[in-house]
Amino acid sequence: MTRGIGLYVHIPFCASRCPYCDFATAPATTALRSRYLEALRREIAREGHLLGRPRVRTLFFGGGTPSLLEPAEIVMLGDALRDAFVLRPREVTLEANPATLDRARLDAWLALGLTRLSLGAQSFDPRGLRALGRTHQPEDSAAAVGVARDAGLDLNLDVIFGWPGQTIAGWERDLETAVALNPDHISCYPLELRLDPEASVPNWPGGGWPVLERWRVAAAAAQPGDAGLAGMYRLAERMLARAGYRHYEIANWARRGKRCLHNLGYWRDRDWLGVGAGAHTHLAGARSANPSELRAYILRANSGSERVVDAEADPPSEAAMLALRLDSGLDLGRYAARFGDAATTRVRSALREVEPAHLVRVEDRHARLTARGRLLANEVFVRLLP
Ligand code: SF4
Repeated sequence: MTRGIGLYVHIPFCASRCPYCDFATAPATTALRSRYLEALRREIAREGHLLGRPRVRTLFFGGGTPSLLEPAEIVMLGDALRDAFVLRPREVTLEANPATLDRARLDAWLALGLTRLSLGAQSFDPRGLRALGRTHQPEDSAAAVGVARDAGLDLNLDVIFGWPGQTIAGWERDLETAVALNPDHISCYPLELRLDPEASVPNWPGGGWPVLERWRVAAAAAQPGDAGLAGMYRLAERMLARAGYRHYEIANWARRGKRCLHNLGYWRDRDWLGVGAGAHTHLAGARSANPSELRAYILRANSGSERVVDAEADPPSEAAMLALRLDSGLDLGRYAARFGDAATTRVRSALREVEPAHLVRVEDRHARLTARGRLLANEVFVRLLP
């Protein structure tokens, strides 16, 4: 593991629950909070020891809302990470919600080496924030951008399109506002309303699945249709290109030199370790995951039992799908060297099937999604599955 690893640390706590979210989350006030953080400390120590204290190349605190951690909790995490790993990352990202970062918290993150803030702005339209069940106000995002800039941090803005009732003109205004804030990086995600959020239900009190299901069914009925979503995606491509952002991954745009190094590690199929509830790991070609439910995670971390290896994962097809997400595409020569001729023949024939529909362009050793393919990437990916 000479190249080092990417390290993802999952902090599940959120001030409230957004109804479309199916990440592993829990209320910030949960009685399990200190037990969770203690379990996380143990898992970090154990994994660092098992892996021989590898170098961490990139560090990513995601969630949940990690920016809700208190300064003392951030210091504890930093100490645990420095004890367990050679911590010389080129990039340290923190996911933050607007209106959660105060000076004391930011100072603690900066002392841990923070270089990049990923801000969940989602929309700059109060109707959009309400439709998404977000609790912050549009002006909170601009204030958080100012805080990030004053601290010298790189900045990503997450924005969501296709929320119930959003029009193409409304999306254009959101994009204009995002660009005017001059972030280094912008991620644009369509609102996805998968109707199977059991994984996110157990940690929250309240109505549970029936309440969420009602919300999602109503939201899906008020969403723009497929053609509307496609128009919004194309608009983002045009506007962000004009503003000088490179569309380097299906949902991600960056200024020169500002791509997310940690996420590039996922797409390039490198080694990464994920710690915390619901976190995934990819080490030496094997994928594994932690339980999403907090009590189950705490039990696992404290017992020191092995993480659950995903026996159904198919590394060759996953590597192909991940590479195709990037504008650099899939290098079929390198792919053959890594996974062999049989896997490469399978990928080539799957790509040939979608070439007539202009979803991919295959040139000798290289395959890339076309503009249409970026829009309909799942049509390509489904053919790459074993
Ligand atoms: S979308 Fe973000 S803030 Fe909302 S519940 Fe999910 S992780 Fe928490």
